[in-house]
Amino acid sequence: MNAPSPEHLAANPLDAAAAALIGAPAGPLRLADLRRHQFERLRETVAWAQQKSPFYRRLLAGIDAQSLRTADDLCRLPFTTADDLRRNDPPLVCVSQDEVSHVVTLETSGTQGPAKRLYFLPGDQVATRDFFVHGMSVFTRPGDRVAILFPGGRAGSVGDLLAHALRGFGAEPLVADWPQDPAATARAMREFRPDVVAGAPVAVLAVARHDAAGKHEPLRVRSALLSSDRAGASLRAALTGLWGCEVYDHYGMTEMGLGGGVDCPVHAGYHMREAELLFEVVDPATGAPVPEGAVGEVVVTTLTRRGLPLIRYRTGDLSRIVPGACACNSPLLRLDRIAGRLGAGVDLGTGELSMAMLDEALFALPKVIDFAATCRLGKAPRLHVDIATLPGGGRLDALRTALTGIPVLAQAIARRRLHLSIAVAADGRLRTRVGKRRIAVDNAA
Ligand SMILES: [Zn+2]
Repeated sequence: MNAPSPEHLAANPLDAAAAALIGAPAGPLRLADLRRHQFERLRETVAWAQQKSPFYRRLLAGIDAQSLRTADDLCRLPFTTADDLRRNDPPLVCVSQDEVSHVVTLETSGTQGPAKRLYFLPGDQVATRDFFVHGMSVFTRPGDRVAILFPGGRAGSVGDLLAHALRGFGAEPLVADWPQDPAATARAMREFRPDVVAGAPVAVLAVARHDAAGKHEPLRVRSALLSSDRAGASLRAALTGLWGCEVYDHYGMTEMGLGGGVDCPVHAGYHMREAELLFEVVDPATGAPVPEGAVGEVVVTTLTRRGLPLIRYRTGDLSRIVPGACACNSPLLRLDRIAGRLGAGVDLGTGELSMAMLDEALFALPKVIDFAATCRLGKAPRLHVDIATLPGGGRLDALRTALTGIPVLAQAIARRRLHLSIAVAADGRLRTRVGKRRIAVDNAA
């Protein structure tokens, strides 16, 4: 897809939203105003957390919040980790339970121990909805029909917040929910005829493949927004091929208040939600900032949350800051597509196997809609891949060829270090749930 030239691009709606949030004067958003605002909010957040949160009182003891003026000052602050959130001892939360309007519990697959719990105040949810409005308006127009393939049953869920945001600017949402039965969702899509489809990558792919496998002309969808999990090149190419849509990516996590950043028509990185979040990229081993443009771990600080602020929270996601200015003229920081997650790969002895590698190999096959991978390590290592295809799809030899095209996997099999088993179910149903898919590791054997 050719990137549009700057003169054909409308101003990025995220700029105007950020300018309004920081109280900047009319006209183009200025980087200096944004940075000044971020450090003012950082000082407030640190002072508030020291005062109200038992965890931060201890973690940030001896730090003078008012001294935080530059990126170097920021680097002196200690990190907050996922383990700190899980342990919650002493508690991180800054307010009493009756002020909290929304609690999200994040179970972590493959790890024992307590789940992460995040607390949001009513204002946090309004802020998320507002970000969704501006993020969606990058590629959605008033009057558009927007199909939402995220869970939306509960108040405060992603689907619910998105639908509310879309109605707010005159688009018509349909919360189709997570497609338990993608064939049925595809039929519902045909009736609704969406201009835009938003959902997790595998959910959108499954519905698109079911739609295109029908006896009719496939839908024409103008834009697809993928969020909540990494979307690889083969999946994105498949969607564009099936529906003719331009694919947009959103990067965020519950810890960021769901919304983090969304790419623009140039598709050269997510423009981040900088009026409310402060981003850094650090060396995962040393914690030191990496040079601009180098890959490292994404670290986020919330600037407006008062219920459960996160200060220098290590996300575990690997990315880099895209250097230079974007052709859309937005000064908002860009993070490149997430390159992976720390500790999510599986060491096969021949190198690390990642979910991204499996995605690229399997989603390039036209009938694959989802899969789950389990790796058993130990004496008789084995990788089992449970693949779901459209009805009538999925020849075992083609699937095996695709998988053994992954060099680390092929080498591990050739050296008899690993047994690969494949199960195929041509039932057209998803094998995973919304969220970050990963290779399950079974260390028991
Ligand atoms: Zn841009």
